[in-house]
Amino acid sequence: MPVSGLPPYDEGNIFARILRGEIPAKRVHEDEWALAFHDIAPQAPVHVLVIPKGPYVSLADFTAQASDAEIGGFWRAVGKVARDLGLEEKGFRTLSNMGFDGGQEVPHFHVHLFAGRPLGRMVSPAG
Ligand code: 5GP
Repeated sequence: MPVSGLPPYDEGNIFARILRGEIPAKRVHEDEWALAFHDIAPQAPVHVLVIPKGPYVSLADFTAQASDAEIGGFWRAVGKVARDLGLEEKGFRTLSNMGFDGGQEVPHFHVHLFAGRPLGRMVSPAG
């Protein structure tokens, strides 16, 4: 049971299908621990998603259940993607939505990586 307030991992979710190569994605990085690809509906000039290879529904699930090697490998991949895309000089934002209030749509843990323009305030006003 995932530790996240979300249903158990669904092997049919869209990112699981991308991992299995069943549907295409514009891949920018892949290693033992992570896959990174461009978001299908970018919200910034650069909008890349980084996902772990393992079946984790959310950040809460990932940090509770994944091994240290998976967690370390995943976060190193996030940093490598930002570096390889040349985002460090001007800066970027990482974000992970979790659960209902977080606005999570796809139930496979992922980190958004935004860059390419000033990104404004962190969170929009309530409403
Ligand atoms: P969430 O709201 O779960 O944090 O973000 C899910 C993200 O996945 C959204 O930004 C959405 O545009 C992206 N997305 C949904 N379906 C697909 C897809 O089939 N391919 C790609 N590349 N991105 C997708």
